[in-house]
Amino acid sequence: MSATTPQACNSCLGSGETPTDYGLVDCPDCGGSGVLPHRSVLVEWRARDIERALAKGAAVTPEHARWLLAELRSARNALTEIIALAHDTEDPDAIGQKIRFTANRALGLYDVVPASAVPSAGAADSTS
Ligand SMILES: [Zn+2]
Repeated sequence: MSATTPQACNSCLGSGETPTDYGLVDCPDCGGSGVLPHRSVLVEWRARDIERALAKGAAVTPEHARWLLAELRSARNALTEIIALAHDTEDPDAIGQKIRFTANRALGLYDVVPASAVPSAGAADSTS
């Protein structure tokens, strides 16, 4: 991964200001900087906007719901890919296993049962 160059804000064309009936104010999309912040910052800003709207008693808009669903699917796809990649690790500290369990805790793809509840492979072979 590498850092990306800042992208100029399309809403204010990089000026950082937006005209209103009461004069110029900081652009709401870039916070007045004229460049868009990193995606992780944008996600946090939007999440906070939704939380503030809900705290004021406003309903979740279809636009918010679509954005939240897109973020949810994106995160779940990334975690699923992480589980698949962690299967390929061969490390003595079982870090790959810890990564798989951590990602699965969020995804719920696999049921986790205590090792004592799992019949051993040898026991299964002896019954057949
Ligand atoms: Zn802007």
